[in-house]
Amino acid sequence: MIVQDKTDSTASKYSAASELRDLRSLTYEEVSGILTGWGHKNYRTKQLLDWIYKKRVCSFDEMTDLSQELRAQLLDAFRMQSLECAQEQISQDGTVKFLWRLADGEFIESVLIPASIGQDGKRSNRHTLCVSTQVGCAYGCKFCASGIMGYRRNLEIFEIVDQVLSVERWKHAQLLESSEHSEHTLPNGQALVNNLVIMGMGEPLANYLNLTKALQILNAPWGLNIGARKITVSTSGLVPEIRRLAEEPQQYHLAISLHGATDDVRSQIMPVNRKYPLAQLIDACEAYQKAKGRMIWIEYILIDQVNTGLEQAHALVGLAKRLQCKVNLIPYNPVGELEWKRPSDRTVAQFRDSLHRNGVRVTVRMEKGQDIDAACGQLRLKTEQKNKLAI
Ligand code: SF4
Repeated sequence: MIVQDKTDSTASKYSAASELRDLRSLTYEEVSGILTGWGHKNYRTKQLLDWIYKKRVCSFDEMTDLSQELRAQLLDAFRMQSLECAQEQISQDGTVKFLWRLADGEFIESVLIPASIGQDGKRSNRHTLCVSTQVGCAYGCKFCASGIMGYRRNLEIFEIVDQVLSVERWKHAQLLESSEHSEHTLPNGQALVNNLVIMGMGEPLANYLNLTKALQILNAPWGLNIGARKITVSTSGLVPEIRRLAEEPQQYHLAISLHGATDDVRSQIMPVNRKYPLAQLIDACEAYQKAKGRMIWIEYILIDQVNTGLEQAHALVGLAKRLQCKVNLIPYNPVGELEWKRPSDRTVAQFRDSLHRNGVRVTVRMEKGQDIDAACGQLRLKTEQKNKLAI
């Protein structure tokens, strides 16, 4: 594991500019409306957005083909404040965990999961980024580090978008360091990140409007151009928002963090289940599926002595068959402060086999980055605790 720690309890690039709007929260049409309203030709919109999303610059000064006048107007009206990398941890398996410091001093995380070897034995070019949507989380799942320090705030649109841009810039800096490339972008203008899972810190659907607009920007050809089918939105089970997402035109995948296949077990570890019990959740999933086709899968973290019994496996078979969806089993990645344990390999195999025998498509997803603080919220939790001690 390689760790680069740039945290201290006070350092942050606060700026008066943080009160201004950020261009990375706006759609093409909104930017175009502003520029033409200032009297500029519409082609300036594409030039400006190319600087942001294709060349990924961090300041208006670098946008050298825009007039001085336009750059001055942009500087007056908008901010360009990028996420500050407070720490990065690089796992032996290539997983990279980023701890970002926001302008108000809060921390969030993103995790870059590298290409792996596919079933055909070839290395896939998939680079997945796991993105956060809130600082902390209000949903209080008992096994989750993100819930421990409670909810602080929703991320703004640009704070979601900039997690992807910042990772692209990080990769670009690495390439420059190794002197392989000297352009602003990866070879052939390609981006590194081509798959997104919205599964980081926070409940994505609790920040619905900012999330869906950020996804629009990440998906747009003028933005980061990541296909909707390469974007997976995860939820702990917010029923009204699942139904609302089903109405959106984009074909996002939906992942349900189930983690319990009966109401009693699920409510024990996921308080959200008391508000939206399984019957309501599965109905909403069916509505999503009807609107989008087979675009749902179930995530099921296996926690020793909690949800690994064969009666849970049996109930899970029923739910998965009803939704005709795939199940990802994830052996729990322990969080130091919490009592929950990872089950034995034998228990994991038994659980998997009982699903498989009953005709459910199932995979066991080993958590990447075992040698770093890869569990969601773990790195932020440690950093905040360290900073508290330092005050
Ligand atoms: S698992 Fe997700 S919804 Fe539950 S507390 Fe953690 S971040 Fe929130």
